[in-house]
Amino acid sequence: MVLDGITLTYPDGDGRLTALDAVSLEAPAGSLTAVVGPSGSGKSSLLAVAATLVTPERGSVVVGGTDTGGLSRADQAVLRRERIGIVFQQPNLLPSLTAAEQLQLMAHMSGRQPRTARDRALELLDAVGLADRAHRRPHQLSGGQRQRVNIARALMNEPAVLLVDEPTSALDHERGAAVLDLLVTLTRERSTATLLVTHDRAHLERADRTVTMADGRLVGPPYGG
Ligand code: ADP
Ligand code: MG
Repeated sequence: MVLDGITLTYPDGDGRLTALDAVSLEAPAGSLTAVVGPSGSGKSSLLAVAATLVTPERGSVVVGGTDTGGLSRADQAVLRRERIGIVFQQPNLLPSLTAAEQLQLMAHMSGRQPRTARDRALELLDAVGLADRAHRRPHQLSGGQRQRVNIARALMNEPAVLLVDEPTSALDHERGAAVLDLLVTLTRERSTATLLVTHDRAHLERADRTVTMADGRLVGPPYGG
């Protein structure tokens, strides 16, 4: 994925607040880029633009060779469903569905074969260590397990890009570390271009690269390195 010269502003009283200021970032397939920076520096805005959920004033978002700016909103929604996996802080699972069904629903919305979808759902739940929890509903799972279902669901349609916003902030340190290990492994195995917003310095060692944001700009790697 390539983000090139992204500028995004929000209405702010009489004026506009610049949330992203000419941000350019390349995220290669099969590598995990950590995004750090203080609260309010624009990290979530960057993911929202990368996800094509928000259209920037300037700049381009290229996903798997497709410049998303040239697409209609409807085609962007299709691209989002087919090519982009999104994992936010709160899993947002549907209470009435089992873990496997949460995943199968994604494939169903993309018009995929139910049998293939079921096999893939079970394979992914196995990959995230939940083979024996596939038929549980969210309330029968721990917080860490729910976040694993969330990650597996984001991978259901084999996305080129995986966007993850503070996935471990609701978890204790040990479970957070396990989720991070999982993201690193899946990024390699599934060859996703992964952007991970995190507060946890321990995650940075596992990332292929870290970029730092401040006041809507990319200010380079942390520690001046
Ligand atoms: P971070 O994720 O790094 O905490 P955000 O991207 O959420 O930062 O926010 C960047 C800036 O944009 C902040 O000043 C925030 O208050 C502002 N902002 C974020 N979302 C909105 C919105 N929907 N409307 C107006 N301002 C927003
Ligand atoms: Mg944020």
